[in-house]
Amino acid sequence: MALRPDIEEKIIKMLPEEAKVTRIEFEGPHVTVYSINPGYIMNNSELIKMLAKELKKHIIIKGDEKARAPKEEVEKVIRKMITDGGNEVDKVYFNDQLGDVYIFLRKPQVIKGLDKAILSQTGWRPVIVSTALDMSKGLPRDDIDAVNNVDMLMSKERAEFLKSIGLRIHRLPVYKNEYVKVTCLGACFEVGRSALLIETSESRVLLDAGVKPSGGMDEAPFFDVIDVDNLDAVVISHAHLDHIGMLPYLYKYGYKGPVYMTEPTKYLMEILLTDYIDLSSERGYSYYGLSELASSLYHSITVDYGDVTDISPDIKLTLYDAGHEIGSALSHLHIGNGLYNIVYTGDFKYGPSRLLNPAHSIFKRVELLIMESTYGGKDDVQKPREEAEAELIQLINKTIENGGKVLIPVFSTGRAQEILFLLNDSMQVGKLAKAPIYVDGMVLQTLNVHLMFPDYLNNNVKELIYDGVNPFISEYVKPVERARNPDKRQEQVMDILQGPPSIILAPHGMLNGGPAMDYFVHMADDAKNSLIFVSYQGEGTLGRRLIQGERKVNLKYYDQDITVNVNMNVFHEPGFSGHSDRKQLMNYVGRIEPKPHKVMLVHGEPGKLMNLALSIELKYKIDTVMLNHLETIRLV
Ligand SMILES: [Zn+2]
Repeated sequence: MALRPDIEEKIIKMLPEEAKVTRIEFEGPHVTVYSINPGYIMNNSELIKMLAKELKKHIIIKGDEKARAPKEEVEKVIRKMITDGGNEVDKVYFNDQLGDVYIFLRKPQVIKGLDKAILSQTGWRPVIVSTALDMSKGLPRDDIDAVNNVDMLMSKERAEFLKSIGLRIHRLPVYKNEYVKVTCLGACFEVGRSALLIETSESRVLLDAGVKPSGGMDEAPFFDVIDVDNLDAVVISHAHLDHIGMLPYLYKYGYKGPVYMTEPTKYLMEILLTDYIDLSSERGYSYYGLSELASSLYHSITVDYGDVTDISPDIKLTLYDAGHEIGSALSHLHIGNGLYNIVYTGDFKYGPSRLLNPAHSIFKRVELLIMESTYGGKDDVQKPREEAEAELIQLINKTIENGGKVLIPVFSTGRAQEILFLLNDSMQVGKLAKAPIYVDGMVLQTLNVHLMFPDYLNNNVKELIYDGVNPFISEYVKPVERARNPDKRQEQVMDILQGPPSIILAPHGMLNGGPAMDYFVHMADDAKNSLIFVSYQGEGTLGRRLIQGERKVNLKYYDQDITVNVNMNVFHEPGFSGHSDRKQLMNYVGRIEPKPHKVMLVHGEPGKLMNLALSIELKYKIDTVMLNHLETIRLV
């Protein structure tokens, strides 16, 4: 199959002869123009703007094979340019198929302006990858290497994949825009296994592919209704298991298409799913293995906030900051050239936090808002952030003064970094008693992703990281690398618990297993200790039972049935949540621009959803719907 002749013709006509265009190709959602004189086009930026405007496509300029200087020479030029710019090069990797040169930087700095210079001078298009190496000394980086390796080792196949996806995306539509439908495949009247299918007469897009870890038989979304051969794209809102956990499963069952997400989400996904595969095989069953995870990474196409991306002939995707965790995104779908617009929030926070910006709320058009409702109940009002912070600090201080220890169950990404940042900061300014902060589980791996992508954090934290400060680590922060051997693990935990008063951050955030469990079973009995939950506690989880007052709990621990008497203090501080509370959800519907015609509520418990829907209809007079699983709503 060749490139669409109409597009090719337009480009050739619009570019002057000096541009020396040799060929034009689709690479995934982008149109790539190869030239013997790429510097000429790059230095006439109005040419690229004009092309993009005329074609309504994202245009990339690259050097033709004949324009590319020898690699050793190019590497020298690049190393000198970058070093002169005050950064350090970790390694340089050339992708012959795509004409890209990957430059791995030791500091998370952007090399503003240098990309144009590198392409003009060398004929190779630079792709900057931050490894944040010098800031994360002692922190694990295997996962970062794993993600980068998938791209590099498979570069030839990946170039072919991008080409075939490009042809599919830019195919001439066969059908006129006749309808837009949404079908709920998961997270309807429940929290967990998020999955929504968007269908038009021309294309099909899946939003999220989550798992419900505590769901028993209902762990997976209703994927059986998807025809993987006809699926155009998967879009992932953020890297939490209930939004990504079933993505590799799609590849296992034959999906060969692209999955779109932000760059931080791609790295976090590798870390979380590697661990998920480990845990599931320990438990004796797994839906997929490492090769399906590698396949998911290989098929992923990362997009920045605000970039408009063609993902099918009639759907354009734009991701915006969702404020929920690093890289989390709201998905805006522009369907059928002005026919219909959907905003899907994924998980989002419409309020300030220590690390992130509040969720984006201004769009060109929105007809349907699909909104998560985790804290949609009428009593789900969180304390203001400052109040929650002051209370948390006070609780920890009191426990430490009394000679106790504090256990804070956290998810590996999101709350963990938020709390670590807060504790570090409070210790430095003298508000929090100085005590060791033990950080267990994958919190440190996911921390690396924060150092690599400061642009995805709020200005305050971004500037600190660009200034070379690692705001998550201090002399008090003690990484704990979880011992695999159960006896060694017990020894490791007892060492910490027999030591001086301390603070322990460990997953899982709902205390449904994970490293936190090892501390909990030994700490629970002692009334001097405190257990502080800082996030949403799902129905049926141990966390939920404890905050509801259960003080004698039966557990399965290392294959044994045990009973734990809980004498420690149990607190719940939902004010740290990465989700919007009831007030923020209502505010979002009221303030999102323009006002949507319809709201669909997902990702919430039934009672909360229904109450929130009623309030939205009463206050804003917007038609508000909720679907059952496998129910479809036709919008156009
Ligand atoms: Zn989430």
